[in-house]
Amino acid sequence: MHYANDLDVEYILHSSILYRDDNNNAIAAAYTAAMGEAMTDKTKAQWQTMADKLKIEARAFINGHYVDAHDGATRTCYNPATGTKLADVANCGIDDADRAVQGARDAFESGIWSKRSPDARRAVMVRWAQLLEDNADELALLETLDVGKPIRDTTGSDVPGAIRTIRWSGEAIDKIYEQVAPTSHDTIGLVTRIPLGVVAAIVPWNFPLSTTAWKLGPALASGNSVILKPASNTPLTAIRIAGLAKEAGLPDGVLQVLPGPGSSMGAHLATHMDIDGLTFTGSTPIGKKLLEYSGQSNLKRVFNELGGKSPNIVFADADLEKAAEAAAMACFYNGGQTCTAGTRLIVEESIHDRFVDMVIEAAKAWQPGDIMDPATAMGPMIDQGQYDTVKDYIAIGDSEGCTRYGGDSNIFPESGGLFLEPVIFTGVDNSMRIAQEEVFGPVLAVIPFKTKEEAINIANDSIYGLGGAIWSRDISNALSVAEEIRVGTLGVNNYFGGDITVPFGGFKQSGNGRDKSIHAFDDYTELKTTWIEL
Ligand code: NAP
Repeated sequence: MHYANDLDVEYILHSSILYRDDNNNAIAAAYTAAMGEAMTDKTKAQWQTMADKLKIEARAFINGHYVDAHDGATRTCYNPATGTKLADVANCGIDDADRAVQGARDAFESGIWSKRSPDARRAVMVRWAQLLEDNADELALLETLDVGKPIRDTTGSDVPGAIRTIRWSGEAIDKIYEQVAPTSHDTIGLVTRIPLGVVAAIVPWNFPLSTTAWKLGPALASGNSVILKPASNTPLTAIRIAGLAKEAGLPDGVLQVLPGPGSSMGAHLATHMDIDGLTFTGSTPIGKKLLEYSGQSNLKRVFNELGGKSPNIVFADADLEKAAEAAAMACFYNGGQTCTAGTRLIVEESIHDRFVDMVIEAAKAWQPGDIMDPATAMGPMIDQGQYDTVKDYIAIGDSEGCTRYGGDSNIFPESGGLFLEPVIFTGVDNSMRIAQEEVFGPVLAVIPFKTKEEAINIANDSIYGLGGAIWSRDISNALSVAEEIRVGTLGVNNYFGGDITVPFGGFKQSGNGRDKSIHAFDDYTELKTTWIEL
């Protein structure tokens, strides 16, 4: 794999297809080219050869060593694009969790990492980032096979994004100053930040490596010991990067990786009396449970990054060509299995029919295909459960009286994978279930509006508040609407904008934590006041 420069990586990482080249051609229809051709110089056949030779580490990582689960239990991981077995992965239980917590606590109390100078921690994190980069092809391939993500996405976004996050977090830690309060002349008020201690990080299957890096970067750089529980479906990159962290010089016990069931082992971590912080990315129902677990146990700090039903508002004066390409990308990228997916397309009535036609056309770029082919834009659903859920929602949309475009589920049957094609519903009212509930599949609900106020009301009429966008050439109009929309990340004339320098998280039932940027460090540190009388 070769990387574009930082700017390009940042662009591709969270950027939109909205960028235009010198000839003012949308390169994004072209997201394909940007994500695939620009970021991987290997062909499908070369990726396949590499996959055939891949040796997968499938054990847990506890106290600096790869180990089997205490009771020898395993869980089989499958490639969702083919249904073939990838590995029997250690399925850790309560005993393993307790051993990992004890090791993490011992490492923390020893000060071997927590009291190491910020500069020394920076050096290890940066070395780790370099090792991730040296092994980028392998990580991209693992993530592609484990999650069913097209290789162009993992080479173009997930892996370079994770590397950038670890490097950025490491580089930040020796540049964050603490504070002296403005007190009277005979006192000194020191305001310092100290690591929480032992932190559990529980992450989902849709962006396993990205969300892992968003947690591990600031948590480890701050001096905590971390126990990472990957999603049961997708543990492989988490396991692999732990060994690279050790190689970079991270002391034993500071990072533990425990693949295992969320409902038992994950819940055990969340109720553990010796874990100080819990950082979570996943669904809103599980996020609510974690807050309860915290209250039932030791009031550990809980930071949640949860679900979404994000509004994408298009005014009649927008650059409609650009907005239509972005609307398709916003909903269908990663097969719609994206927390910030722009699943509610809120369109000004006067352009509704013309714009829907343009989005239907743009959706053709998001047909599912072979994930090992760098030209493929969309992979399969992660598993049978998710596939069935999405099909149920398509039936619900039909039964709610909406008009449907697309949705043939008999796609690519020879692959053995669970593929769905993009679905666009029109005639949607925001009160319908397909407009209110997170589908987590390639299903777009188009909702018309007449006035700006109506657009704002529709956008905010949701239990979620994660992402969204506004499209208008009138910047005053766009910004006045932006001010009213209650979401954590909002694009103006772009979708999925942002990079590591800005925080990412939700309002309302989309969560309370913030990943990325310097603000992420707030979730992994306690503020401490030391008051000195002279
Ligand atoms: P999920 O079912 O909530 O699972 C997330 C993680 O929690 C998995 O590791 C899971 O383990 C674990 N878990 C399940 N039950 C648990 C319990 N009782 N106690 C402790 N841990 C438990 O979510 P998902 O289906 O993997 O991911 C999709 C969801 O994540 C969507 O709602 C999406 O919007 C959200 N998401 C949010 C963001 C964001 O930044 N806001 C980013 C990505 C995804 P198992 O795998 O073993 O069940």
